[in-house]
Amino acid sequence: MSESMHIGMAGAGLSCAVIARELAERGHRITIHETRPHVAGNCHTERDAGSGVMVHVYGPHIFHTDDEEVWTLVNRYMDFKPYVNRVKATARGQVFSLPINLHTINQFFGKTFSPSEARAFIESQADTTITDPQSFEEQALRFIGRELYEAFFKGYTLKQWEVDPKRLPASILKRLPVRFNYNDNYFAHRFQGMPAEGYTVMVQRMLDHPNIIVHLGSALRPADVGQYDHVFWSGPLDAFYGHAEGRLPYRTLDFERFEGEGDVQGCAVMNYNDVEVPYTRITEHKHFAPWEEHARSVCYREFSRRCGENDIPYYPVHLTEGDQLLQAYQARAAREQGVTFVGRLGTYRYMDMDVTIRAALDAVRAFINARTA
Ligand code: UDP
Repeated sequence: MSESMHIGMAGAGLSCAVIARELAERGHRITIHETRPHVAGNCHTERDAGSGVMVHVYGPHIFHTDDEEVWTLVNRYMDFKPYVNRVKATARGQVFSLPINLHTINQFFGKTFSPSEARAFIESQADTTITDPQSFEEQALRFIGRELYEAFFKGYTLKQWEVDPKRLPASILKRLPVRFNYNDNYFAHRFQGMPAEGYTVMVQRMLDHPNIIVHLGSALRPADVGQYDHVFWSGPLDAFYGHAEGRLPYRTLDFERFEGEGDVQGCAVMNYNDVEVPYTRITEHKHFAPWEEHARSVCYREFSRRCGENDIPYYPVHLTEGDQLLQAYQARAAREQGVTFVGRLGTYRYMDMDVTIRAALDAVRAFINARTA
């Protein structure tokens, strides 16, 4: 790729930041349009002026990965502090440990099982007639049995997705491990940490290159795509086509912010699994940065609901019965010349941050290779 290109981008989240940096370092000029007043998309962090707490403005983001290249990349821009996500769950008037581990099982069933006893017991609870679980519910019934499913997953999932777990894919539950020991690390990846100065500073540093210009509060209109040699679009896939086929469904989140003195709930994330409690979890943000000390505390009570036209899209809603609407958009995207769709919104995928970065690296390399071949 000898000639320098002018590349346009929609969105200044992780995807476009990674792609912009890779291309900028190869001498291309990048212009990014970001509709929000800040970079970093939904992993945006901001230090609260009153308390000094680093707030995860769009909800909790914990960095974890098995991908060494991705881990090296983020550490190039930011010092990551060791952090282990240990989630607690309030269910049926008690507090339990998540993800489901030996402590959860023993506490829930009032037992003192060893790992092998617990494994045998859970297997006896499991519905072994389900041989190839497709749905969230089948996956749960097959691997943890009805009692644990109903206590920890059914109500939470109904609140989070407003869809019967029979219609949700098993992949959503597969995000969570089940352990027959006392390891209560929510994630099973080799690398896990929190950015010392937050994600937004990390993304700002990725974008801090003389070949990259970021316009905040500015939208790249699909009609303007032709102004660029190529466009990377990390906005919603359906928005690129003016929602011509219909609106892809998303969940959005509402956060009820409240403050307190000292330590409000004693942990970063407390899930509320009973369906009668209207929120899914409470996050206490100071605990995401245990190396900092603050007298006051900032908490978010998190509510999930269907995403309306003027709401911020968070989670794409994939159902087991398939998705003709998505397929229609994907078919259009595959025919598109000069545009690459990237990221959670551009590819309509439920992606963690590390997967987002991996996909961005793969996309930009494919783009470069196609032009040097
Ligand atoms: N989930 C649940 N109970 C819990 C935690 C998770 O039922 O206590 C289900 C729920 O359907 C959720 C999914 O597992 O959407 C994935 O959970 P995760 O914690 O990965 O969600 P995220 O932090 O991405 O919102």
